[in-house]
Amino acid sequence: MKSDLMRMLESRKEEIIEIRRYLHENPELSFKEEKTAQYIADFYKGKDVDLQTNVGNGYGIIVTITGGKPGKTIGLRADFDALPILEEAEVPFRSKNKGVMHACGHDGHTAYLLVLADCLIQLKDSIPGTIKIIHQHAEEVPPGGAKSIVESGLIDDLDVVFGIHLLPMGPSGTVGYHAGYSFNGRAYMKLKIQGRGGHGSSPHLANDAIVAGAHFVTAAQTIISRRLSPFDVGVITIGSFDGKGTFNVIKDSVELEGDIRYMTTETKDTIEKEVKKMVRGIEEEFGVACELTYTPDYPPLYNDPRLTAFVAESLRSLKDPDIKEVKEFPAMAPSEDFAYYAEKFPACFFYIACTPKGVEDPYFNHHPKFDIDEAALLVAAKAVGQVVCSYFEM
Ligand code: MN
Repeated sequence: MKSDLMRMLESRKEEIIEIRRYLHENPELSFKEEKTAQYIADFYKGKDVDLQTNVGNGYGIIVTITGGKPGKTIGLRADFDALPILEEAEVPFRSKNKGVMHACGHDGHTAYLLVLADCLIQLKDSIPGTIKIIHQHAEEVPPGGAKSIVESGLIDDLDVVFGIHLLPMGPSGTVGYHAGYSFNGRAYMKLKIQGRGGHGSSPHLANDAIVAGAHFVTAAQTIISRRLSPFDVGVITIGSFDGKGTFNVIKDSVELEGDIRYMTTETKDTIEKEVKKMVRGIEEEFGVACELTYTPDYPPLYNDPRLTAFVAESLRSLKDPDIKEVKEFPAMAPSEDFAYYAEKFPACFFYIACTPKGVEDPYFNHHPKFDIDEAALLVAAKAVGQVVCSYFEM
């Protein structure tokens, strides 16, 4: 079955690329992927599967492939939303939806998974178990689509879940993996500081919101440097501070917004606790009233170590000319809502290298010139197909 699957995928290499180019030309923003979802649903029309549309808080789609024999249930997830970026990549299939771009490779994720799913449907009589294909909307914008799909109850029976991400971190043919915590978790914060305005000459009669806010910006960095273990990582970025005022007037209020990242749930809790404590301290120290909004969204993504070792071993055992190297990759600073699946099920989210040929310093995901080597799409299909076969021991 494994060799049949690999042969079938090989013969549909061009089709995967065509689908990816169609999706690339027709990107849609998170939570607005109506036509993309329709395209995906149409792809499965007439095929012997159970199809659920509008899953979760958007256009999520779950396709259930029931094998000919009973067995375990595998989830395979690919996201399909795009970003609010004006494409600058020099490609003939450039985005037709101006200001929206598949700059994170989700077009490629969806293209490979559609064709892999179709091949598995054709082979389903010999599959000892069930495969749930999760076409997920809205990865890029919190609250994301993943959490709502997990909560839909439609995938409660998964034994395991796999996903991949295209990353320009090596030539096509390289597959990367990382065990344990692999992507940062994230929280959003907004702090409104209400002081008491006054004359620039008489600070003793006012409570300066700018000084209080500036103190918070600087002091918050000591949470990272003085409250986290040197072996933990965390980031606090205050990206917005509306300090605009008049030079001789003490400002009565300011509003700050920030982005917080962390690689473990322990660090998540520590930073949240310390930020809240610091805000109380600022109130006391500067005589201001603070209103803090602190909203954790995507959790840190945890790759099950045993499952990740299994994936690496499975890929190394596949003697296929398209998969040239399987190696450990570093953990990644961004966040990924695949983390919600990994919170509930043993999961492995691994990396498909896609640096365009002849490019030494590629544009990373989310850049207006982001581009991939499309040969990586067949690598993704074969790699995930191989992992499925190994898991079922087919
Ligand atoms: Mn992405």
